[in-house]
Amino acid sequence: MKTNHATRVASLGLAAVVACLAVFSIVAAYVARTQADRVLRSESLAGSYEGALAAIAAEQIAELNYLFDLSPEHLRERDLAGNALTEAIADIAALGGREDEALAKDILALHDRFFIVSERMAGVVASGDIGTARLIHEYSVDTIFQAMTARLESAAEIRRAESQSALAALQSTSQWVLILAPVVFAIGFVLLLAVSRTLEQYDRARSKAFREIEKLSKLRGEFVSIVSHEFRTPLTGIQGFSEVMRDEELTIPEMREYAGDINKDARRLARLISDMLDLDRMESGLMTVSVVPVDLNRVVADAAAQFRLSAARHPIELDLDQRLPTLIADPDRIAQVVTNLLSNAIKYSPSGGAVELRTTSDGRSVTLTVRDHGIGIPTEQLEKIFERYARIATAETQSIQGTGLGLPIVRQIVQLYEGKVWATSQPGAGSVLHVQFPLPADSVQRAVPPPPRVRAA
Ligand code: ADP
Repeated sequence: MKTNHATRVASLGLAAVVACLAVFSIVAAYVARTQADRVLRSESLAGSYEGALAAIAAEQIAELNYLFDLSPEHLRERDLAGNALTEAIADIAALGGREDEALAKDILALHDRFFIVSERMAGVVASGDIGTARLIHEYSVDTIFQAMTARLESAAEIRRAESQSALAALQSTSQWVLILAPVVFAIGFVLLLAVSRTLEQYDRARSKAFREIEKLSKLRGEFVSIVSHEFRTPLTGIQGFSEVMRDEELTIPEMREYAGDINKDARRLARLISDMLDLDRMESGLMTVSVVPVDLNRVVADAAAQFRLSAARHPIELDLDQRLPTLIADPDRIAQVVTNLLSNAIKYSPSGGAVELRTTSDGRSVTLTVRDHGIGIPTEQLEKIFERYARIATAETQSIQGTGLGLPIVRQIVQLYEGKVWATSQPGAGSVLHVQFPLPADSVQRAVPPPPRVRAA
């Protein structure tokens, strides 16, 4: 689920990077192109206006030349100048908008009027009436030229301003593109980095999952071998004893003895199953515990009393701090810790020997130590023994029954209360198992006087 989510995030991130860059490039190119078109169009339009103004000036001169000398060359020159103006006006109409079209129409109308007046004036000049010709020129021709020039000039000025503003807009767009391009690419780069980080995380999560699967498969193998060995032994016992009881003629005391053996094996099986279930529940965080004040000394004393009944070769000595602060914990789980440690101390001292249980407190934590004088633990195994199914395989331990579940259970319970457990040992001379529970902050006592101690054996 988690990895699926990571790949989806990574693909979305990658798509976002590509989309971001594509959108930026398309928008920037579109805006720049539109503005460049506007600049070109408005510059050509302004150029056509300039051309029209120049054509008017040229036509004016050609007209005067024609009036002074009504020769066919001057007439041709005047017509050429007139054509140049008509072409420039046609360009204005074609390049410009509606206003330019209307203006072009007005100019052409004025130009047509000029032609009519000019023809009349040529007739008057030809008849030798120079005074009338001068009057016509002054009041009609000049007026028409002035009107055309004035209208074209004011429109040309507007078009020039428009062309400049289009150019300024293009310049500002290119500036923005220059500023935004690195920003967009930086964002894209950051997104790419994020994508690659996500993929790395995905990769790490996958490797972790593989490692966990490997570990689980190893545990499964160990579990199968432990179960096949540890379950088979009591089951063989139960099977054998029950067959004897079924097939043989037994006296009542013999019957009792066999029933006792069957009961012992059945209890061993029950304990094994309950240990496995306990550890599974603890490791998966499903263990529910009650939290009440617990007197560790009492729990230790009860466990010792119980074990003394069956461990005659192992004198159990108690050294208990009478001012030991109470723990806030589940009494059954704390009893399980003490029982597992005490049972190991006895079990792994096959030649007998005293077992000492000690409680102490420094005001911040409560410590229980269980010391035995048994076979001890090799230094390199001191950590490993707290792992599931970890059993030290030596000639001495071979004949000692065990599942490798007792200490992992102890560690899980201790960790539940944020405490710690560790072992020290002198191989061949015995081991000490230490359990430390932290006390809640409000029960921390500062100067702790040396506690009165009770010793019992
Ligand atoms: P087991 O059921 O095998 O006793 P534990 O988890 O309680 O499982 O202990 C794991 C291993 O640690 C044991 O198999 C034993 O080899 C070693 N061990 C535990 N306690 C002691 C001890 N007091 N002295 C020597 N070895 C010990």
